[in-house]
Amino acid sequence: MFNPHDIRQQFPVFTHFPDLVYLDSAATTQKPYIVLALEQEYYERHNANVHRGIYRLAAEATALYEGTRERSARFLNAPQAKQIIFTSGTTDGINLVAQCFALPRLEAGDQLLISAMEHHSNLIPWQQVCLAKKAELKVIPFLPNGELDMQALQDLLNPKVKLLALTHISNTLGTINPIETIIPLAHAQGIPVLVDAAQSIVSHKIDVQALDVDFLVFSGHKLFGPTGTGVLYGKEKWLNEMPPYRFGGEMIRDVTFERTLFAPIPQKFEAGTPNIAGVATLASAMDFVEDLGQKNIATHLQRLLHLGMERLASIPGIQFYGEATNKSGIISFTLEGIHPHDLATILGQKDICIRAGHHCTQPIMDFYEIPGTVRVSFSVYNVEEDVLKLEKGLREVMGVMGRVN
Ligand code: PMP
Repeated sequence: MFNPHDIRQQFPVFTHFPDLVYLDSAATTQKPYIVLALEQEYYERHNANVHRGIYRLAAEATALYEGTRERSARFLNAPQAKQIIFTSGTTDGINLVAQCFALPRLEAGDQLLISAMEHHSNLIPWQQVCLAKKAELKVIPFLPNGELDMQALQDLLNPKVKLLALTHISNTLGTINPIETIIPLAHAQGIPVLVDAAQSIVSHKIDVQALDVDFLVFSGHKLFGPTGTGVLYGKEKWLNEMPPYRFGGEMIRDVTFERTLFAPIPQKFEAGTPNIAGVATLASAMDFVEDLGQKNIATHLQRLLHLGMERLASIPGIQFYGEATNKSGIISFTLEGIHPHDLATILGQKDICIRAGHHCTQPIMDFYEIPGTVRVSFSVYNVEEDVLKLEKGLREVMGVMGRVN
């Protein structure tokens, strides 16, 4: 039985601050005891560097680190654990694919395709490799309700496109893009696809084989795991042919002054001492999510989304951004005459944590011709009272600002 009140008990932050209304999980999620306990246990009982040592602690640290690789492969239904590359997060994973896959393959006149709702981290890396190679960055527009323009997408697919990089869920609009339809459309034109699953990994069971996706990235910290961890999944054929772009220890087979032979995947992409404690801990975050069940999480988010939209809709002067039919637990809005930052500041003083600004998606703001929105994002520990407290808080702000509430 999925009970957010019970789930809340598993997060120490709510024990320390029982009245905290945390509505910023799209930025990062809070951490449950199971994750925190494993991190402490790692440092207390298993801490050593990985791969090189032959003593007991080193073997245990390596087993934990590599264990998360196996766990991640099962989590995503990847064919083999070596197709899982540990990164510091979604941004890092996208940069790796931009530098090691796109850059060497792009020629002048080629195209890379993204959507107009991408987070800057799924925009700038592609823009920069396009600039370096005199290639073109093409952009799939979205409709005023926040849904991807599927007709435009189909029109933009052509053999000049060397990669389509698309977010599964928009961190600003909440739109859930139909990646299961889009990936085959791209493949029909020979275009590989990268999916940014930063926002969807919590609420959607991702099966990379069923999706037949070429690359998929996500961050551990949005999955109740530690910051500084992330996963890049890639098809074996691509990962094998991609050259590494970070050099150093751990990623080599043989080194002389004249040349280096690189280790096979995944090691060739993991130079230097990795975030061992973080990666070791990430496995427990995956356990936590699978124990709750992504379907149950998605249902819970839908419930809060609908309650939130319904309660906030009656506030005078509210304008929602992103009203796609298929939408996750994210609400973006403005209140007429009140700057989003003022709103977030006043609510922050009441321990209601929401975010204001462009949410690293300036092109979305440009589309709607606004400087920013207020964003509310839900997670497993949010309860209906959080929505009611948010509504009350917003009405109070309206009162303070001298507006009808
Ligand atoms: N893509 C999306 C859709 C996101 O929501 C985020 C985080 N807000 C990122 C990419 C970047 O993730 P990170 O900062 O963890 O690298």
